[in-house]
Amino acid sequence: MPAAYGPAAAPSRRGAGAREVTRYRDSGTARVPVRVVSPALLLLAACGPAIHVPPPERVARVERPGREVELCVLMQERAVRPIWQGCAEASLAPWQFAIASVLVKHPAGLVVLDPAFGRGIESDLQRAGVVSRLAFGEARTKKPLVDVLEAAGVDPADVRYALATHVHWDHVGALGDLPNARVLIARPELEFARPLRRGMETGVMPHHLKRAKRRTFAFDFTGPPVEAFASSFDFFGDGAVVAVPMPGHTPGSTAFLVRSAGKTWLFSGDTSWTSRGVELPAHKTVPVDSDREQLAGQLGLLHAYLQHRPDVVVVPAHDATALELLPPCAPGK
Ligand SMILES: [Zn+2]
Repeated sequence: MPAAYGPAAAPSRRGAGAREVTRYRDSGTARVPVRVVSPALLLLAACGPAIHVPPPERVARVERPGREVELCVLMQERAVRPIWQGCAEASLAPWQFAIASVLVKHPAGLVVLDPAFGRGIESDLQRAGVVSRLAFGEARTKKPLVDVLEAAGVDPADVRYALATHVHWDHVGALGDLPNARVLIARPELEFARPLRRGMETGVMPHHLKRAKRRTFAFDFTGPPVEAFASSFDFFGDGAVVAVPMPGHTPGSTAFLVRSAGKTWLFSGDTSWTSRGVELPAHKTVPVDSDREQLAGQLGLLHAYLQHRPDVVVVPAHDATALELLPPCAPGK
């Protein structure tokens, strides 16, 4: 079983067309041709817990006053992969894959959501191990967050807050590179990460959290129900950036509701890696979620938002098409 906790690497394209190329993956015991893996994985995924889509009333719009903020995207890796690697659909259609962070410009200070790749990305990949590296790809296709920030004219030292949808390696790799950022993570997620020790364990690299330990604070969902979510945490008390619980991918996975440009942006982390997974809705092909039953419920909810709420933009963490609805962060902007 591929040990990837990030989206699997795209097979190199030889004569890209309908027929799948054959690549081999080291499973430690036998070399398994991908052509065998994909249908088997798809079947496995298709046997995942049923996804129930809630009725429209569950996502009915409730007027919620709140401050609007500016958003832009900090792209750190971009590639095209077949959709079957991202969600359980037997298709070779392109998945515009991305690893990115989102910059929120709030009057209280700059906020980075999911500070993905650290300066130490090369050594992180070494730490990940052979099998995971097959899935994660190479360092040369990845840009550290701080380089992308500086290219956008933002000094990493000016970032005041860092938020995370979850603590997987490709979402919090740069925590240590934001020296003045208060790191705010949902308590259940920090508790999930606390006992982890090895270089990479269930997708988490503990050293990422260790590097920012003194500036890391747990928050609880003590706020009122918001939208279809039973509880919330409003970071600035002005409705601009609100965290809601979305457990399933990891025990403390969190989604963020951010108001910008007349819309509500729903950053849903790795509940689904792809917009296609929300559209269908469908599970991921690779069973990497800590609780697939819970995740099935979240997928159904995201699908209901997509169906019934044109004022809400659902942004899966690894879908470039959704992320690029936001402007890229650029100097002077
Ligand atoms: Zn993840």
